[in-house]
Amino acid sequence: MKITENIHLLKIDFSVQITPEKSLPRFVNSLIIFGESITVIDSGVKNSYRLIYDYIEKNNRKIGEIKTLILSHSHPDHIGSAKKIKMDTGCKVIGHLLEKDWIENIDLQFKNRPVPGFYSLVDESVKLDNLLTGGENLELDKGITISIINTPGHSKGSFSILFKEDSVLFTADSLPLANDIPTYDNYTDLKKSLSLLKSINDYQILLSSWTPPLSDKNEISKLIIDAENYLNKLDIAVKEYYLQDELNALDNCGKVINALGLPPVFVVSLVDRAFRTHL
Ligand SMILES: [Zn+2]
Repeated sequence: MKITENIHLLKIDFSVQITPEKSLPRFVNSLIIFGESITVIDSGVKNSYRLIYDYIEKNNRKIGEIKTLILSHSHPDHIGSAKKIKMDTGCKVIGHLLEKDWIENIDLQFKNRPVPGFYSLVDESVKLDNLLTGGENLELDKGITISIINTPGHSKGSFSILFKEDSVLFTADSLPLANDIPTYDNYTDLKKSLSLLKSINDYQILLSSWTPPLSDKNEISKLIIDAENYLNKLDIAVKEYYLQDELNALDNCGKVINALGLPPVFVVSLVDRAFRTHL
């Protein structure tokens, strides 16, 4: 989907196998930036490179023109095709210093953050060529300048990207959706990042991993406020239930999910891990 002359959004559907019987349909948005060269932002899951290549070719460009791949953070649905794209095109892969360990060692990532069906989403680590720490202004191509804005919480090195000339803000996974599965790394940081995102006004279109493009300022601020309210509700429930004893590892997680009327499929160790950061 064409967002501006340069920026295109590609929605990638996939599913997460929670148990052998249960799977959770998900999607993630990648960006394809057409300048003199091509930049891909987030690579989807492990077979998503096919969709990305098809999209580029349908726009009468060649995959060999991909010079840069930026990874907004280390999670499997963002880095799944990164190694393949790097091998096929020789592009430079750029990511945040604080995400480096998990991007370059997916086994370490899985050990520390056991996403169900992890290896069906990503099966290869990739080396980063350039590291970001936040605050950088990068010229991707003539007339395409981006600012890197640290928005941690979803993961410790999550960042958002402001496209200056195109007046587009891409928040990747930094902006949680109300009633969606809670998968953040740090509740306090996430709340601070939401306040920061609320204060950014110098853009026209908001893009994220999980929403259609938004240009109405009221809809954008509602999205952020709904996320804040959702986190506040989770915080109250977590503090109520996690201060009680539990018989089994996911008992208290289950009570929080149940109290908020969220789908039982959310009762997994990944969500329990997010809830424990409230305490
Ligand atoms: Zn993520």
